[in-house]
Amino acid sequence: MKIAFIGLGNMGGGMAANLVKAGHTVNAFDLSGDARAAAADAGCEAHDTVESACESAEAVVTMLPNGEIVRSVYGDQVIAATPKGAIFLDCSTIDVTTAKEVEAISVGAGFEMVDAPVSGGIAAANGGTLTFMVGGTDSAFERAKPILEGMGKAVIHAGEAGAGQTAKICNNMLLAIHMIGTAEAMKMAQKLGLDPQKFYEISSQSSGYNWSLNAYTPLPGVGVESPADNDYQGGFATGLMLKDLRLAMEAADKADAAVPLGARAASLYEDFAGAGNGGLDFSAIIKTY
Ligand code: NAD
Repeated sequence: MKIAFIGLGNMGGGMAANLVKAGHTVNAFDLSGDARAAAADAGCEAHDTVESACESAEAVVTMLPNGEIVRSVYGDQVIAATPKGAIFLDCSTIDVTTAKEVEAISVGAGFEMVDAPVSGGIAAANGGTLTFMVGGTDSAFERAKPILEGMGKAVIHAGEAGAGQTAKICNNMLLAIHMIGTAEAMKMAQKLGLDPQKFYEISSQSSGYNWSLNAYTPLPGVGVESPADNDYQGGFATGLMLKDLRLAMEAADKADAAVPLGARAASLYEDFAGAGNGGLDFSAIIKTY
């Protein structure tokens, strides 16, 4: 299949390379010349404009920083340049409202579209092991699925347009809450004189069991190996967690959903990122205890 891929950054670069490995012809574009060159090295055909990448595409995949950019790339460029009938897949993490609006504009112009944000970081993007949560019609999902399977290990139809973004922000709000809860409990146990490794052994097999504790232990040298053991480098950056929490708070506000713990988590991550820690893995929030 001929696929245009727009946004070849930390995530998109590896995803585009995996589409090449899956046998697709990938016409790649990014504003960054370095990103275009890396994509060419990975077997993509690098293009100088969005329009030239899209002009004969049967599918367009985007992996862009935010909703404003997604709206302008589709609204001002992709829709006008792509042959009618192509399928659009936006894998960026953006707000639910923009995702729905861009889908509606695309459908109005003769295209099917899914929002397909991902769980999994740069390693999963490079390794082709992302999880995609997909919003869109049954027909759009069926067309998008084989393309997404070339970049991930799981492709789940969440519901109608915007449902993928909804799943993503609710999941990451929960992740922030259990990471903070895990950090708080581990540090309290330590202050009360309990060896943190003993706390890990007990709680990870008790009702305190959760992903942040069991699979991503936030204290160095305790539990499983994680970014904590690498000075909180790599992993999922605090700045990206904060981005997702802001999107979650905006969506909660619009839906009139009560999120007292999500709001507290957002404000703790806001403070932590504001103190210059945006580049550290999000588990480094334990340092504030
Ligand atoms: P990034 O900043 O590394 O990459 C974004 C790329 O988009 C950049 O290369 C930039 O040059 C390009 N770009 C920006 N505007 C453009 C335009 N108008 N036309 C073409 N290219 C343009 O970001 P990333 O880490 O790859 O993240 C991409 C998306 O994936 C974000 O929405 C992010 O929230 C989401 N995400 C990231 C991670 C992660 O661990 N990095 C995990 C899950 C989801």
